[in-house]
Amino acid sequence: MSVSTRVDLALLGIRGRPPVSRTAGAGPSDDGHLMIDGRPAAIPLNPQSPFVFDGDKVLLDGEDSGLDVRVIDRPKFYDLRTLDGVSYEKIARLHGRNVLATTVVQTCIRYAEDQRCRFCSIEESLRSGATTAVKRPAELAEVAEAAVRLDGVEHMVMTTGTSAGTDRGARHLARCVKAVKAAVPGLPIQVQCEPPADLTVLTELREAGADAVGIHVESLDDDVRRRWMPGKATVPLSQYRDAWREAVRVFGRNQVSTYLLVGLGEDPDELIAGAGELIEMGVYPFVVPFRPHPGTLAVDVDGAGPPDSAIVEKVSREVANALQLARMAGADQKAGCAACGACGVLQSVGG
Ligand code: SF4
Repeated sequence: MSVSTRVDLALLGIRGRPPVSRTAGAGPSDDGHLMIDGRPAAIPLNPQSPFVFDGDKVLLDGEDSGLDVRVIDRPKFYDLRTLDGVSYEKIARLHGRNVLATTVVQTCIRYAEDQRCRFCSIEESLRSGATTAVKRPAELAEVAEAAVRLDGVEHMVMTTGTSAGTDRGARHLARCVKAVKAAVPGLPIQVQCEPPADLTVLTELREAGADAVGIHVESLDDDVRRRWMPGKATVPLSQYRDAWREAVRVFGRNQVSTYLLVGLGEDPDELIAGAGELIEMGVYPFVVPFRPHPGTLAVDVDGAGPPDSAIVEKVSREVANALQLARMAGADQKAGCAACGACGVLQSVGG
């Protein structure tokens, strides 16, 4: 498959709904998960796309697209329930082929309309009843054990909405990690949170058993940050840099990552240069195309569309080259989004 076809798929999405898919939530969502060319791919669901998933393969304009597609079956753990009757599916979800993902706190202090990230719909999945507000450590441990045993899950991502505390939600993440590690010691876990004001919390996360951490800035351009993420933009970039440095010290080089979104109106060359600085610090810049999906302010209010495919390809290729020079690969992260790679095309071009 050519890289440009993979980029087109990432941007145009597919019609139809694969057995593993998700609607609103934290981060990129509203997508279907398939194996494409042997790699996990999280592809936007788009009723206007020229690509159609027919339950088995991907067609382009009615013909077999020639893409090497493997369907990921609905996981067995989705059919189980906790003793309290909560469906496991509401507690954690399968992402890609082998990632268990959960949002441990499904609310965010930044969700007021004039504060929230315009691409995020973290509280919409809560409103629709698709998930629960706060995941308890014991129930996450129960679900993780079942997902490993029944569905061969190999790593786990725990993210959180931002809390009002100085730990930004990291202490609840640490409690969840500890419980999951007690139940399934061999399951690598990535945690994701905003830079905590008190950086010692990063050591608490590591000591609880977290293997990797994502501290997601989404853009290194302050104008873009103020426009797209007014709440998060109140945290200065210097605070992100301090947190990344401390996280690299605690978790190790290339076990720390951040999302960088392409398509928020930033200068692509500045984005590439910024990614280079992150790589120098030992932080993996997980470059992903901005994905417009309904339920977000970006789509419902701003009418934002996907980025230009040539820019996504250029940025992904150049960042992948820089990663290769630094001998940093997404696949070398022990767990999490950079290890999975399904939401971007960086791994398809060698990152
Ligand atoms: S990259 Fe992250 S959000 Fe995307 S499918 Fe993989 S684990 Fe999930």
